[in-house]
Amino acid sequence: MAPSDATSSLPTLTDSAVRITVLLPLGIDTVYDYLTADAANAPEGAFVRVPLASRMVTGVVWRHVTDEDEPRLTHDKLKHIGEILPVPVMTKSLRKLIDWVAEYTLAKRGAVLRMAMSVPEALEPPMMRVAYLASDLVPERLTPERKRVFEVLSDGQPLSAAELSREAKVSTGVVRALAKASALRTVSIPAWPVPEQPDWHLPRADLSTDQQLVAHRLMDQVMAEKFSVTLLDGVTGSGKTEVYFEAVAKALELERQVLVMLPEIALSTQWLERFRARFGATPMVWHSELGQRARRETWRAVAENKARIVVGARSSLWLPFVELGLIVVDEEHDGAFKQEDGVIYHARDMAVMRARFAACPLILCSATPSLESLANVKAGRYESLHLRDRHGGAQLPNIEIVDMRRDPPPRGEWISPPLREALTECFAAGQQAVLFLNRRGYAPLTLCRACGHRLECPNCSAWLVAHRFTKTLNCHHCGYIQRSPDACPECEAEGRMAACGPGVERVAEEAAALFPDIKSEIVTSDTVAGPEDAANFVARIEKCEINLVIGTQIIAKGHHFPLLTLVGVVDADLGLAGGDLRAAERTYQLLHQVGGRAGRAHHAGRMLLQTFIPDHPVMVALSSGERDLFLTRETEARELHGQPPAGRLAAVILSGQNEASVADTALALARIARNNLPAEGGMEVLGPAPAPLALLRGHYRYRLLVKCSRAHLPQPWLRHWLNVLDAPSRVSLRIDVDPYSFN
Ligand code: ADP
Ligand code: ZN
Repeated sequence: MAPSDATSSLPTLTDSAVRITVLLPLGIDTVYDYLTADAANAPEGAFVRVPLASRMVTGVVWRHVTDEDEPRLTHDKLKHIGEILPVPVMTKSLRKLIDWVAEYTLAKRGAVLRMAMSVPEALEPPMMRVAYLASDLVPERLTPERKRVFEVLSDGQPLSAAELSREAKVSTGVVRALAKASALRTVSIPAWPVPEQPDWHLPRADLSTDQQLVAHRLMDQVMAEKFSVTLLDGVTGSGKTEVYFEAVAKALELERQVLVMLPEIALSTQWLERFRARFGATPMVWHSELGQRARRETWRAVAENKARIVVGARSSLWLPFVELGLIVVDEEHDGAFKQEDGVIYHARDMAVMRARFAACPLILCSATPSLESLANVKAGRYESLHLRDRHGGAQLPNIEIVDMRRDPPPRGEWISPPLREALTECFAAGQQAVLFLNRRGYAPLTLCRACGHRLECPNCSAWLVAHRFTKTLNCHHCGYIQRSPDACPECEAEGRMAACGPGVERVAEEAAALFPDIKSEIVTSDTVAGPEDAANFVARIEKCEINLVIGTQIIAKGHHFPLLTLVGVVDADLGLAGGDLRAAERTYQLLHQVGGRAGRAHHAGRMLLQTFIPDHPVMVALSSGERDLFLTRETEARELHGQPPAGRLAAVILSGQNEASVADTALALARIARNNLPAEGGMEVLGPAPAPLALLRGHYRYRLLVKCSRAHLPQPWLRHWLNVLDAPSRVSLRIDVDPYSFN
């Protein structure tokens, strides 16, 4: 083992062994050189065990080094690889993606590989299990049930008792009785179960003319079997899902694999039900809450091309598809596609590269597309398809503005008179409502009325958020929790601590006082932790066991409730505070999506926006429905300031426990950068400055921002500066290319 870029004397070809490079899933960039005597069984992409120092590590054969390659190490200095794992090789397209993502994000290549090898157990030889095949012995009594068993087995594929019982629609008892009568023989096969197979033959919905046009275009792209990106832009409820299901069906028909990425897969029970209704099977799912066994089985089924379709969160991008025929990114504008820790990448953007390397089409879906995707449409890089109307004539919700300066709620309350009235009407009609407030807990700030002291997290520059149910003060950044004090920790005054501002718990308290007979429920990431909670919640709303939902953005996602007709946005201005360049775009997207929950079936919906800035372009765009005007203005503003998508940004975040050394290192980096700026591309270095979250988990944070034109890439320059920089080990650096968070 040696880094492959080390130089040495000429190679002496002492044996017939072939030199290969292996990439290991460690925090390193370089590949290591090894030898193999069995080159045919260790092709590029093979998973192999290799010696590293005193242990064995699993990695991937990255390249076979030929004699023409520049000589580096003599063979006798190289170690031989160990075991070659019996796993399908990693495809060239996934290996290219790993190289590309590392190059683009400046993450270590091994760290990117680690995401593609996130289930080490899936690489191990599987357990064996008992399966059945038809023997030559025909049983005396051939009941219809027994006949079905033989029909299922007629293709010669051995199946377990459970699989046979599922596919032949017989009890496992029937299978076992046949085995006992020696009409079935047992064989031992790997224990990976065969996933349920979706059936594209099943009847589809009757599509409208518009929907049909779009569906045909998407199916054509799937049939073309080459790279393309299409933005499917249509209002909530216009049938985008219905239409991309047709593209999915086409890919399944062509025996290709399909990846559908959703921002919050754990909360997508309704999506799974719809898929089941359309294709008669549940797709394999992939997200961070998935159990160990399901991870292993899914990863393996994807690698062996047994899983035809996976629906997953952003990490599903790294699954080992071998026959990828279509990728769909639903709600493409959603911030959840950006991974903010470890390898920092945007799964939507990287999905574009995955589709490119796999030569397959990609569909980006949204009712409120990102400016990035719209810019790509405008530049001719993406095709765009539109669905203009809600299906079946369902009306878009009527969006009304409540000017909080004119119609304020009583002091210390948050529900204005117009919103209260709308709620009263809604409940009187037996319908359901949502109060939306993107803030967990009871109150975002607690202060002492005697001395003005504000309760802050000891580890972060952030207020502690009061949670009433747990009677605690929580930091939403680091997880710090303390009991709510009775006395001020500063001046020791008793009973003077006051909660300021609303969180969902407080709005729920107020709603309960206003509507004592109404059943309400708070829905946040605190109360809905996983798929099971989400399914329960959805079922309770569908059965009308809940009339009022008070929730954060978790409720904005794709749920569809026929009786939900009113959405009240408690604080429409919330997302607009702070200097985030995407604040307006994001607020628009979020509020539009929340509004989409209202009035999807036979009832017209209403959304009330409580705002102190009714003239803000976001409020105007929402209430007038002038989306495109808003987007045009927003695009122009970004162009004017060279902000994304017109320009490129990359952030460097430096952090450490010693503030002075963090600040010094940040200054040193800025100096190096300013002394080494390229002549073209209008590259600028902004900062360093303390980050808005200047202290996080006890670490001081400084930020530097690099800005340049779209036509240039900041990465080579960043790499150069960071090579020159001599950063002390106690200062850690994170690079965020195309940042979405500016905390
Ligand atoms: P979107 O993805 O654009 O929000 P959906 O595909 O979820 O839209 O469609 C909204 C609702 O309308 C769903 O309940 C869907 O089943 C229904 N729907 C859409 N198109 C059709 C159609 N052609 N026939 C029957 N139902 C449809
Ligand atoms: Zn904290």
